[in-house]
Amino acid sequence: MPSAPLPDVGSNPLIERFIWDLTYACPLRCVHCYSESGRRPARTLRREEMLRVVEVIAGAQPKRISFSGGEPLIARWWADAARRLGTAGVPVTVFTSGWLVDERRSTELVSSVASVAVSVDGPTEHVHDAIRGRRGSFARAMAALEALERAKRTNRARTCTVGIDYTVTRSGLEGLDRFVVDMTKRFPDLDFVRFGAVVPEGLAQEEGFVARELLSDDELIALGESEVQLASHARNHATVSVTDARYFLPSSPLSAASASIAHIEPDGELRAFTTYEAKVGNVLRESLDVLWRRALAWRQQPFVKQQLASVRTLDDWARATRALDRRYGSEADRARIARRGGVAA
Ligand code: SF4
Repeated sequence: MPSAPLPDVGSNPLIERFIWDLTYACPLRCVHCYSESGRRPARTLRREEMLRVVEVIAGAQPKRISFSGGEPLIARWWADAARRLGTAGVPVTVFTSGWLVDERRSTELVSSVASVAVSVDGPTEHVHDAIRGRRGSFARAMAALEALERAKRTNRARTCTVGIDYTVTRSGLEGLDRFVVDMTKRFPDLDFVRFGAVVPEGLAQEEGFVARELLSDDELIALGESEVQLASHARNHATVSVTDARYFLPSSPLSAASASIAHIEPDGELRAFTTYEAKVGNVLRESLDVLWRRALAWRQQPFVKQQLASVRTLDDWARATRALDRRYGSEADRARIARRGGVAA
């Protein structure tokens, strides 16, 4: 990988996008989970606290927000939060495994958010279920996509896009051409299929996972160059895309886009940077301006800069993430990380 200067995050970028993990509860147990959900306290807010976080986010007027987790649909108030943000002019994308998407929730989704991305991480049921750690998860994701298509047609909710978000591990790397054909034939109204290599965050930073599932440099480059070929297999109007591998590397100028992401954990804690466990305070207790300045300052700390400047490959990034999470995670984070043992191995 070519080396490149660190993005200049000291120039106070405005917050352009929020990621809000609504809960760390999840019915699945994915081997690569970035948030280790289902294996840690859920920390979901009560409704009145959620309303205060929504106010904070709406006040920052970001271009968009992603509801993630955990499984965001477990937070009972997710639809209310999405509608309030939509009314405030902030488009909401929901990332879901599809496990909980029945007819009622699919109707709620297409009528209250701008986009729904169902995670499918394997080209076949066998591969997907193994990565997702629960038998039946591929079937539930397919049922969710069917329900969402029906809901879009029934509700004429043409403005809500529905698609597939595919995190590419080595186990899920083969058969992507066939997957695009299958999905775009099976779901004629599918709007997008997005592929992106797994990044070394959460469980995916651990050495056992890195050795087995993180893409090599060559695989990463080949995936990045396969977009046109993959798109040629679409059997409907869906946009098929592959996120440029260089966006993933903190030493790349292209990764500067992530400098303007504010990542909020379920209970309102703001992360110093989206992919790391470091927290700078809670949006329910301190002003977002103060916290954001603290987040930017964290990124300028010598140890942080030194770690990120040493990154050239995904392997390097995994090593830097391990160092940062173990140094800056909360006490609870560090205890959880210490318990991982062979979880991701
Ligand atoms: S990756 Fe998503 S679906 Fe899988 S365990 Fe984590 S939060 Fe749940």
